Parts: sequence; structure tokens; C-alpha cells
Amino acid sequence: MVIKMDFHVLTLFPEMVSQGLNTSITGRAIDKGLISLNTVNIRDFSKDKHQRVDDYPYGGGAGMVIQAEPVYESYTYLINQINKKYDNKPDIKNKQTRVIYVTPQGPVFNQSMAQELSKEEDLIFLCGHYEGIDERVLEMIVTDYISIGDYVLTGGELPAMVMIDAIARLIPGVLNNDTSSEFESLHDNLLEYPQYTRPEVFQGRRVPEILLSGHHAKIEKWRREQAIQRTLNRRPDLLPEANLTPKEREYLRQLQQ
Ligand code: SAM
Repeated sequence: MVIKMDFHVLTLFPEMVSQGLNTSITGRAIDKGLISLNTVNIRDFSKDKHQRVDDYPYGGGAGMVIQAEPVYESYTYLINQINKKYDNKPDIKNKQTRVIYVTPQGPVFNQSMAQELSKEEDLIFLCGHYEGIDERVLEMIVTDYISIGDYVLTGGELPAMVMIDAIARLIPGVLNNDTSSEFESLHDNLLEYPQYTRPEVFQGRRVPEILLSGHHAKIEKWRREQAIQRTLNRRPDLLPEANLTPKEREYLRQLQQ
């Protein structure tokens, strides 16, 4: 479990990423030093006098492609920065920092990927734009290709922010209550049970009686059953991998019948 995580973003729109993530819970986590956000503007590494970083695709076709050189140069600059941090820690210094290219061409991001990535000390996100990035530099620097869903966005900044948010909230201390990231949707491959807060009656609708009983074991059982029911109704595709006790499997079997 890491105690601090440094997120690095290679982007053409650093202000978009920093404005988004310096807000709310991730913003507070940055202020508290639990995570850090370092944006590097790929455009700063352009050798073009107008600071262009894109060009026409070889072979023709619509749109523009981000050139390999400014991406490679910005990556090299960043890796040197990261390595300097670990001058006195040779074990970490020699570890390859993962470089995630956010792209619709990767496997779709999910909670277990967030969990796995939350164990890294540093993560680099590479954001594409236009028609994407010259393939040669991707082959040279990218370790992971990850999508946030089967649709195409204009750029990689929102996907990088989505992933950073999901990973950051798993770092200890980022959420006020450490248990609140454990018992929620996708834990055990189930959706979360329904939640209620005051008042007890809202426009004639009562909070389920069991939640007012103070009987923790019964509440726990009710919540698990609700989670199973909800997953069956809304995301049955999750159930084959759900972590259920034999009794819960039997409960699911009855629901299915
Ligand atoms: N021509 C590319 C293709 O067909 O795969 C799409 C390029 S898209 C218009 C521009 C950039 O947005 C991509 O390089 C990528 O970084 C980002 N992007 C778009 N959709 C995404 C998604 N679903 N998940 C992650 N990144 C995405």
C-alpha cells in the first residue's frame, strides 16, 4: 500500500486537468500531500516556431496526428524529474514507471484495475488529441493502453482525470472514512445496496424498517441481499465473478428462479 502517490500527466491542455483535479476531494488530497499532480505540456517540447505538435497523417485520411518527437521529449523530461526524486532510493529508481496511454483502443478501465494501479508510487498518463499519436513513440514509451469506455472523446484529458480520481480515492486518507471505499459498488463484484439518510419519511416514502432496528448483523445481511438483487437487476454480467458465500449463492439462485 503506498502512502503517497504522484500522478503525472503529459497533455496539450494541462489547465483542464489541473483545474478539474484541484477541486473537491482530489483537491483536498493534493493540499494534504496525500497525492500530487504534475502536468507537463507536450507543446512546450515542440521545436516548431509556432509550437505546432501535429501534422498530416502519412497515407492520407482525415484529421491530424500528434508528432512523436514532442511526446518523446516531454516523456524524457518527466522521467528525469521522477528519477531525481529517487536519487537516494536505488530500488525504486530502477523500477520502470508505468505509462498509461488513454485510448479507446485499450481494455476498459474498472475497479480492479484502479486497485492494482493504486499500488504504484508514480503513474504517467499520456493524453492524445486529434486522431491520436504517432505509433512509433507509443511503441517506445507506453506500458499500458486503457480505455474508459466504448465511445470516442475529443481528447485524453477527461479519461486521465476519471482514472486519477478512481485511483486517488483508494489511497489511504483521501476519503475521510477509510472504510467507505471498501464497501461500495464493485466491491466483491456487486453493486452497492441502496442508501438512505434523514428524514425517516420523505413524501410518504419510509426508510426500510430494518435500517432503524440497530441490529447490525441483520442490517448487514439485508444489505448484502439488496446488493445481490440490485446487481441481478442492473448488472447481471457482474454476477459470475461475484464473491458470494454459499448461502448468498442459494439466495441468488432463488431470485433467478
Ligand atoms: N483516432 C483514434 C481512434 O480511432 O482510436 C481516436 C482519437 S480520439 C479523437 C483523441 C484522443 O482522445 C485519443 O488519442 C485518446 O487519448 C483520447 N480518447 C478518446 N476516447 C477515449 C476513450 N474512450 N478512452 C480513453 N481515451 C480516449
